[in-house]
Amino acid sequence: MERDRHRLRLLELLSAAGNRHCADCGQPDPEWASYKLGIFICLNCSGIHRNLPEISRVKSLQLDFWESNLIEFMKKHGNLYAKAKYEAKVPSYYYIPQSRDCLVLKEQWIRAKYEREEFVATRVCQDPCSAGSHEGFLWKRGRESKYFQKRRFLLSAREGVMKYYTKEAKGPKATISIENLNAMFQTEKIQHAHGLQITYSTDGQTRNLFVYHESGKEIVDWFNAIRAARYHYLRTTFPTVPESQLIPRITRNYVKEGYMQKTGPKQKEAFRLRWFCLDSQERKLMYFKNPLDAFAQGQVFIGTMDEGYEVRAGLPQGVQVKKWKPAITVVTPTREFVFICENDRERSEWIDALNGVIAQPLSG
Ligand code: ZN
Repeated sequence: MERDRHRLRLLELLSAAGNRHCADCGQPDPEWASYKLGIFICLNCSGIHRNLPEISRVKSLQLDFWESNLIEFMKKHGNLYAKAKYEAKVPSYYYIPQSRDCLVLKEQWIRAKYEREEFVATRVCQDPCSAGSHEGFLWKRGRESKYFQKRRFLLSAREGVMKYYTKEAKGPKATISIENLNAMFQTEKIQHAHGLQITYSTDGQTRNLFVYHESGKEIVDWFNAIRAARYHYLRTTFPTVPESQLIPRITRNYVKEGYMQKTGPKQKEAFRLRWFCLDSQERKLMYFKNPLDAFAQGQVFIGTMDEGYEVRAGLPQGVQVKKWKPAITVVTPTREFVFICENDRERSEWIDALNGVIAQPLSG
């Protein structure tokens, strides 16, 4: 049948290099395509394309009928062709989302590429120093109250700082060095689709800011401006470090976050529920009373196996709980920390995440 013949030709196209992964997020085995852009994409990204009828039209490879001329068009184009055209000039600091990233990052990546054509060959690339300058209002969660207030933020890669202002004071409320600035999308924790967590060090402690902007474009622009400023800082501070080692240090997500219960140093204290964040770059496991607290209640440094760090399933000898619980013991040279996870799956995820950090060599 003609329909089957068409499907076979489509599947043939799918096996071509570049078409085996979604053109926008890299997810393997795309099942959809944009027949206006000539790209193969995943179900998730097809949902984003569907909202952009001016630039994209989607069809399912399996469920929809494909006319011969459309199949020919797909054959002439495809993911590699689109990448060469629309991703000709993606700046090295620009964050390219993957399938596990939040919707706003993927949506803005798709809009930036095809709608605004920000990365086509004819575009003049901004240098990281000017791209790392940004100013405007963000909704910032209060440190004491849970309400978000509009605050003016100013980022200057040239000065190496980010500042924010309150209404009352004339000077900045905080001046944050780009040296220890980090940003990550946290849509679930902040309960906003454009929620961004900004962290920095102040007096040896990590301070968390939680912000959002109503506009998806604006919050992703902020994120990439912070990345440009960080890239500018890293590039000028470590001029001999290769690009491939620099890029992962621009911004980072926590390798794992979630609730666990912890006991005190005597291991006889009552277990208390805390929110934990594991930062692999800083090698620290921080814990908070509440997920959106400004400061951690405490933190555990996670060293290497050679230094005597280890993570074990179960409780240390001598620690008793009434009923079996999915516990882990983190062994450090000075102390054993006992945590109780929410379930077995969580426990194995925490063990894997902690082992990942322990296995990492210490960076210089
Ligand atoms: Zn995708």
